[in-house]
Amino acid sequence: MKNKISRRSFLKGTMATACALAAAGIPASAAGANGKEQLATLLDIRKCIGCEACVEACKEVNETKFPDPKKPFPKMYPDRVPVMDWSDKQDVTDRLTPYNWLFIQSATVKINGEETELTIPRRCMHCVNPPCVKLCPWGSARLLKNGISRIDPDLCLGGSKCKSVCPWHIPERQTGVGIYLDLLPSLAGNGVMYKCDRCYNRIADGELPACIEACPEDVQTIGPRDEIIKKAHELAKEIGGYIYGEKENGGTNTIYVSPVPFEELNKAIETGKGKPHLSPVKDTMADSNNLATAMIIAPIAGAVAAAGKFYKMTKTGE
Ligand code: SF4
Ligand code: SF4
Ligand code: SF4
Repeated sequence: MKNKISRRSFLKGTMATACALAAAGIPASAAGANGKEQLATLLDIRKCIGCEACVEACKEVNETKFPDPKKPFPKMYPDRVPVMDWSDKQDVTDRLTPYNWLFIQSATVKINGEETELTIPRRCMHCVNPPCVKLCPWGSARLLKNGISRIDPDLCLGGSKCKSVCPWHIPERQTGVGIYLDLLPSLAGNGVMYKCDRCYNRIADGELPACIEACPEDVQTIGPRDEIIKKAHELAKEIGGYIYGEKENGGTNTIYVSPVPFEELNKAIETGKGKPHLSPVKDTMADSNNLATAMIIAPIAGAVAAAGKFYKMTKTGE
């Protein structure tokens, strides 16, 4: 019931924002990008039945954003960035890939002495201060004002910095696609990095992210971050549960509430490539080296991103 109210109020709020922007002469399509409020999602792990309707919906609505690589791939000199090719494995749904931005992790745990299987939707956490954005040397990853982090496929060179600095190693590379093919096919990058973009275009149009809309169990609730944090604490108190995402990596816009401690869940899930952990995470960007790097990178990345956009415009005539 709570979820339904929340969905209505989210849509009402988004529509109100869109109307206000339209009245101000700003196109509704820019509503999400210009919205001032950070949107967060609450995931009530108890409710998930692991049906994967969300996974299918994500694939369906984001199909046009998925890579369409050119083959054969150019040979890299030196061979520093390995080829990653998921184009023949687009049906894989048991991990994150460039063609699968959301997957369901499962954990068998004991609740009140009874063995219980919990299923957990996993995707990008949408950190409040995302290292993937702050430390991308090319300015290819962006943080929208509404808290969505997104990698621009037209600017990304696929060098993987975002993946190495992400505490959950979320972004996944596909080779043979992107701007590197035109610029430095043998010397830089090696494709484009992909991850959940929180359906930023649907949100800008006043729609719910596809995974939330498709879920038959109302596992996810979306709304302003402070409201979501409040709801998460109320729910955790009500069920004697635990919260993940509020403080991890300095705070994220994805807040999980679980009936069992996350240390237990983390031990019970399968982790590894494309399968993120649920361990405690310290604030990556509080590290003085990363802060200093971000400050050095920012102007360079901005200039590179602007050059990349100009290059694209001259190439496509847009
Ligand atoms: S659609 Fe809902 S219930 Fe089904 S797997 Fe996704 S989050 Fe869980
Ligand atoms: S979870 Fe990783 S990819 Fe997602 S916003 Fe945070 S740092 Fe970036
Ligand atoms: S928010 Fe959109 S892109 Fe992200 S997992 Fe859900 S459906 Fe996929």
